Amino acid sequence: MNILTFDIEEWALAKAGGYGTVEQYAEYDAFLNRILDILDERGIKATCFCTGLMARDFPQVVKLIQSRGHEIGCHSNQHTWMNKMTEAEAREDTHAAVSALEQCIGQKVLSYRAPAFSIGESNKWMFETLASEGIENDSSVFPAARDFGGFPAFQSQLPCTIKYAGIELKEYPISMTSFMGKQVAYSGGGFFRFFPLGFVKGRMAKSDYTMCYFHINDLLPEKKGVKSREEFEAYYKEPGTLKNRYARYLKTNLGKKGAWGKLEKLIQQMDFANIEKVNQTIDWSASPVVTL
Ligand SMILES: [Zn+2]
Repeated sequence: MNILTFDIEEWALAKAGGYGTVEQYAEYDAFLNRILDILDERGIKATCFCTGLMARDFPQVVKLIQSRGHEIGCHSNQHTWMNKMTEAEAREDTHAAVSALEQCIGQKVLSYRAPAFSIGESNKWMFETLASEGIENDSSVFPAARDFGGFPAFQSQLPCTIKYAGIELKEYPISMTSFMGKQVAYSGGGFFRFFPLGFVKGRMAKSDYTMCYFHINDLLPEKKGVKSREEFEAYYKEPGTLKNRYARYLKTNLGKKGAWGKLEKLIQQMDFANIEKVNQTIDWSASPVVTL
């Protein structure tokens, strides 16, 4: 089973970051339309995790995605890493996001992904917050170590039921593969850009479950240079040393040139479904249970 997801946030981030121009929004619109057209050609429905600010400030984008038959999920409100927030802040952010999205699409939002997969051991209370907002499916767990978090102690790499503090939630973790002795992701973001398409397809063909995840920004050439210390610290909430800023810049831009073509081929050559659909096909009584 291959699941296709997109995280939709660029318009709202551009607005908040002060680089939201008519031309910039038009570029995002154009790329979104290209994605929607290829998905239509293939008859594929994806899950699109949108931020609450997208629903508030760019409702036409969220409604367009919904009108083409894709599942609208929640990708936080402001796209601040959840592990940088207090529990109260995270609760407020989640409530604002889910409310804005539901008001925009006129429907209950059931699926969630935290920005940068920022739910881990230190903030697993997020699962309680999600359940209290009526979220039933989560795809925020990156079950290995990574910059800014990850959840290396998480006990399943397959769809599973999380039990925590009296609540239950279905989890769709990010897919991992073993590469040069390390557990790494391969089916989205910078990892997708780094690995040749044949490698990604090969790993997908061999595994029972692959969670693919993309941002439009993963596919666009970077126009801005290395972030200033202030920009970096405001965005990543990490020390903006020269080393950190260059490392992040290189990582964010690695392999961007061929990324669009690769994604197009991937969608044309592989079968995908969204979380809403896959949810109905999984035998949850036979799936792993992870108690946190
Ligand atoms: Zn995101």
